[in-house]
Amino acid sequence: MTILVRGGTLLPMDPGPREVRGDLLISGRQIVAVGKVQAPPGADVIDASGCYVMPGLVQTHLHLVQTIFRGLAEDLSLLDWLRTRVWPLEAAHDEASIRASVRLGLLEVLVTGTTTILDMGTTHLGDAVAEEIAASGIRAHFGQAMMDTGEGVPRKLLETTRASLDASAALIKKWHRHDAGRLQYAYAPRFALSCTRELLETLTTLSRMGSHLVHTHTNENASERALVEKATGRAPAVYLVEVGVASDRAVLAHAVHLDPAEVKALRDVGASVTHCPSSNLKLGSGVADVIGLRAAGITVGIGADGAACNNRLDGFEELRLAGLLARMRHGPTAIGAWDLLRMGTFEGAKALHLDQQTGSLSVDKRADVVVLDAERLAPGGDPTVRIVYGGGSRAVRDVIVDGQLLVRAGRPLRLDPAEVRANAAETLPLLATRAGIAS
Ligand SMILES: [Zn+2]
Repeated sequence: MTILVRGGTLLPMDPGPREVRGDLLISGRQIVAVGKVQAPPGADVIDASGCYVMPGLVQTHLHLVQTIFRGLAEDLSLLDWLRTRVWPLEAAHDEASIRASVRLGLLEVLVTGTTTILDMGTTHLGDAVAEEIAASGIRAHFGQAMMDTGEGVPRKLLETTRASLDASAALIKKWHRHDAGRLQYAYAPRFALSCTRELLETLTTLSRMGSHLVHTHTNENASERALVEKATGRAPAVYLVEVGVASDRAVLAHAVHLDPAEVKALRDVGASVTHCPSSNLKLGSGVADVIGLRAAGITVGIGADGAACNNRLDGFEELRLAGLLARMRHGPTAIGAWDLLRMGTFEGAKALHLDQQTGSLSVDKRADVVVLDAERLAPGGDPTVRIVYGGGSRAVRDVIVDGQLLVRAGRPLRLDPAEVRANAAETLPLLATRAGIAS
């Protein structure tokens, strides 16, 4: 399939010119020309006049299985939120509810301009999650959460070490590099408190052998940090380095409470971090020092985390908050809008080792492209200022992933919004009843 995105203002988000007036030609899965292009015969032409054309957002930390829990886990701090709401709800998921939740999440991220995700799943039904991700057309690294220990973990979520590793192995066999690499498998040990040292060390070895990413949470809030220190005798990030989980293939969500030795340890091994500002504020966890992490040389991506602690999955909103929070600590020159948008695109792709494939509009990269209607952004300022601070997600008009048009004129082409929402509404009361939580 050939698509010509014609006559827009292109924001390539690479080290070249920041704006290019012209066209973008897509053939098959790839961008084949940027600039002035003659429409090839038979091309599907998207008129982008009055629009900004940019790489799709990359969200490097999501829990699609939690989308349906939105509003059921309010006003709690991290460990209570997990133990009294999120874990019981995850334990109660059946195939129908997990599919409904994943589809609802995918619909939200796609229509708000995200084209690549890193998702954690839960400890069961990984095939159902993978099938829905594959069918949606989005680019994803995904994994099934791993939990072989932990206080307050429901019996249904708790696995033996062997079963946890076997489940990942089976999912890798079936899904890793699916659809020419659009899907890849990332090991997902939930966090240090829910994984034995044996599990962490074994998955590290396996992830190294198979070149898989490792996706986990760490240094999210003060109580969790203290519990990890008590259990391991190490600061959490230092412990993750010691067991091997933190490496150049690691994507660590949150990194709010890090001491300078931990920042150095993560920098030395080349681990990446996901900044989740809405989630960190809503759970009252704190604010990660993104400017300090970037200055130390750590790659930082952004993520909405999950609808149960956000309650939106809007990547542009996370970038806006990231910019505002950075100013609170470092003043108004902390970080510009272009750098924020770069964090949400290219740097997220780099965290996922996908920067050769996506994250910028360059010839030979996979075509992961978003067209924004400039009329719907707050006016004034250069395009990146308007997009980051002026409501980027509400201007999303067309979304292309891997050369496939997934959203056209604001309308999702593979997911039917009415059906997805009705399905979620239908399965939610049954799920809440199984979990013993009032919906
Ligand atoms: Zn999370």
